[in-house]
Amino acid sequence: MAPYITLAALVALLVGLAAGKAWERYKLQDGRWIDRRRARESPHFMLGLNYLVADQIDHAIEELTLAADVAGEPLEIHLILGNLYREKGQVGRAIQEHQSLLQRANLRKLEQASVLLCLGLDYKAGGFVDRALEAFSEVLRLDPGNEYALSNLEKLYEEQHLWNEAYATRQKLAAASSDTQRPKHQMILAFIEDELGRDALKRMDYAEATRHFSAAIELDAKSTPAYLSLGDVQFYQGRTADAVATWERLVATTPDRGYLAFSRLESAYPKLGRADSFPDLCRRLIAENPQDWRARLALARHLSSRHALREGLDLLFEALAINPHALALHQAIWEMLSALNLPQTLVDRYVELTRSSIFYLDPHICVRCRYRSTELLWQCPHCHEWNTFVEERISPKDQDVALIETTNSER
Ligand SMILES: [Zn+2]
Repeated sequence: MAPYITLAALVALLVGLAAGKAWERYKLQDGRWIDRRRARESPHFMLGLNYLVADQIDHAIEELTLAADVAGEPLEIHLILGNLYREKGQVGRAIQEHQSLLQRANLRKLEQASVLLCLGLDYKAGGFVDRALEAFSEVLRLDPGNEYALSNLEKLYEEQHLWNEAYATRQKLAAASSDTQRPKHQMILAFIEDELGRDALKRMDYAEATRHFSAAIELDAKSTPAYLSLGDVQFYQGRTADAVATWERLVATTPDRGYLAFSRLESAYPKLGRADSFPDLCRRLIAENPQDWRARLALARHLSSRHALREGLDLLFEALAINPHALALHQAIWEMLSALNLPQTLVDRYVELTRSSIFYLDPHICVRCRYRSTELLWQCPHCHEWNTFVEERISPKDQDVALIETTNSER
């Protein structure tokens, strides 16, 4: 929790400083810049900043309030104070602080935008979605390229599943950004396209859904959910060969997430008279990546359904050595052991393999906020970031529990 507070406080400070910069520019024209220098020269201001860095928000508020008093209540310090109340969870107090700034006479355009931005963040923190939307939209009217307002607006639209609005907002952010940021924007636009496609699918509008899923893949060739869904639409339309080709493209572009298409492929191949294609695919994936335990699990299940239990069990034991905490492996092993009437030598082998293992149920973890999940998620329910989940693995050989994070895709 502590690092999160530090970060939030610094962000609050930076938003305040960015506002202060604009403020300084205008106040200089006004010839009233002395106030700000007086604030900076006040020991209370420096003390306040020090407390902020040390995460002592209450002390920071005390000192900054004194600094504001000494300097004739400058806007900049009150912006920070309001943000600090919000960080403390005193949303009402934050709103009050920021709203009173809006009442000031002769506010410049950028000052007004800064205050409204902070107010929007207050409303958002308090759960007043409509008022937050209004405040951020107003900021953009005053300052059209404001990235804080754009990204907050996008998140609000996403939370309300207003995907078209979220898409348009992300496009504005992308247009204003540098080339290095481009892939990230493309990735997020692809996820939003995917959501639009799902909405179309709920309306049974296959043509519209296909357009969105294809657009998602066009934007980001690694857009896993779009491949899955596009294949689903093709499959529903009876275009089995196209569906298989789409899912195979997923496996080819993102092998570490290809397993998400396994069950689809396994049931679709026989419809094309290609019953061997699924085991062949698994064997190829295992050959290409010897650590691939999911392909082993899928192949083992496939073989056991065709009565090749011993071969399947050998694959599962290999997979278990790679990833001993995968619950699905243990379940599959027990199913097969019991189908074989629990032969003692195989049970002993299982016990030996699991002796030093550690188990947990939620191996997927958000790299941004450390939220844990049993399933792989595309958007984090806690921090709302896209594509931040990796699978955490505990190496069976390490006694002191080293974490192996297998990144889902190199971006
Ligand atoms: Zn998260």
